[in-house]
Amino acid sequence: MKIAEKFLKMGLRFIGRLYVTMGCHPTRCGEFEPDPDLYYSNMCKSIEANHNRVVAIGECGLDYDRLKFCPKEVQKVYFEKQLELAEQFQLPLFLHCRSAHEDFMEIVTRNRSKIVKGGVVHSFDGTSEEARKIIDFGFYIGLNGCSLKTEENLKTVQEIPLEKIMIETDCPWCGIRPSHAGSKMVKTRFPTIKKKEKWAADQLIDGRNEPCHLRQVIEVIANVHNEPVEKLADIFYENTINLFFRK
Ligand SMILES: [Zn+2]
Repeated sequence: MKIAEKFLKMGLRFIGRLYVTMGCHPTRCGEFEPDPDLYYSNMCKSIEANHNRVVAIGECGLDYDRLKFCPKEVQKVYFEKQLELAEQFQLPLFLHCRSAHEDFMEIVTRNRSKIVKGGVVHSFDGTSEEARKIIDFGFYIGLNGCSLKTEENLKTVQEIPLEKIMIETDCPWCGIRPSHAGSKMVKTRFPTIKKKEKWAADQLIDGRNEPCHLRQVIEVIANVHNEPVEKLADIFYENTINLFFRK
């Protein structure tokens, strides 16, 4: 939110083009305690105060790969609680699901009536069957470098219909590393330097994922689906507008 406001104050040309989601990440759900009602009402206040910038509730969901930050039971309770925000504010969901597909689907299915504006399961790295269930529920699937790591991942991506795909970087994490299966399909490389102390405006830091790497994500998907990048860019842009900006 601070970054969105900063751009606004600076009068930069992407006024109106920088938006935020608001929610509690599964690994942070311990923050709801000891007073969940107070935490929830503070979330409501933040959303109300920034209603023209907040386009979705999230990231929320479940992350069973990082239970050391927050136990399963706590994650489940406050993921479900945040679905109330989606209903209350009539907003879509920006969802995070890591190694928790079954519990995730059980919670969203039980709360289907609260999910009025749909959502996207971002940074998807699950199986083809999991992708199918997510799509059947009505969600979009968000792809980044983490979704393109293995040959298995690429096969799954090939099976996801284009009209259900969104793209993201999730930077500074989830870049496409040289060891990833998708890496060989990347066409656009950027000049990089090794040491972050030597940063310059026209060079990236080696290993750090940046927004410009979005092009690499779409290049891999284009290769996997055997379609031109430009066509996919139009489709994915439309998908994004549909979820976050159409009433
Ligand atoms: Zn996430």
